Amino acid sequence: MTSDAGTNAVDAEHLQELVVANRILFDQGVVDAFGHVSMRHPANADRFLLARNMAPRLVTADDILEFGMDGEPVAAAGRAVYIERYIHSEIYRARPDVKAVVHSHAQAVIPFGVVAAAKLRPLFHMGAFLGEGCPVFEIRDTAGRGSDLLIRSRELGAALARDLGQRSSILMRGHGATIAADGLRRAVYRAIYMQMNAALQTTAMQLGDPEFLTPEESEAAVSSVEGQIDRAWTMWRLKVEGKLG
Ligand code: MN
Repeated sequence: MTSDAGTNAVDAEHLQELVVANRILFDQGVVDAFGHVSMRHPANADRFLLARNMAPRLVTADDILEFGMDGEPVAAAGRAVYIERYIHSEIYRARPDVKAVVHSHAQAVIPFGVVAAAKLRPLFHMGAFLGEGCPVFEIRDTAGRGSDLLIRSRELGAALARDLGQRSSILMRGHGATIAADGLRRAVYRAIYMQMNAALQTTAMQLGDPEFLTPEESEAAVSSVEGQIDRAWTMWRLKVEGKLG
């Protein structure tokens, strides 16, 4: 149903799922006061849902706004929006299969965006979605040498989406990472385990030359491990709801 403001009704369950995603990403150390998570609108594939400009931990259902594929809010009613919303809009535009996007400045992944010789690769089965390794987006190729590193335009968002290609994740040099998936829970799961894989890889590289998963092992591990995302989600959700005791 479309309202007078041009927005589409969203049921409370979907809104709450996005609120919970924001809180889980904070609780698991993927986002801090910065970073954001969005989902494609369940009733309109040309729209997506993203919080207004605020810290993820503080997001409630009332803070979630609807955006168009141009990255602009449909009816923000004066509320400030994230500068980097174009990360989300341009990935949704380029990738019809993507239903959720996480953008973070997760600490453990940052080094892999700035050392060309250190490629982020699947070190253990939970990081198998990294496949043959995570590409790095170089903003200088589009914005030159004087940018503030933020994806603050459609042009920059499109460049990021182009470098992401059909993959599930991309590092952003000197900035962070962006993860795209076919569902909100999978995007959150991958954002959490991307950070864990990065931390483990840093440790392993101090010990020696790590042995990574083969592409065949990665493919096999993704289908077995990611069949159990709901098991993790249930626990993460209960924790942020204060129900784990
Ligand atoms: Mn950012």
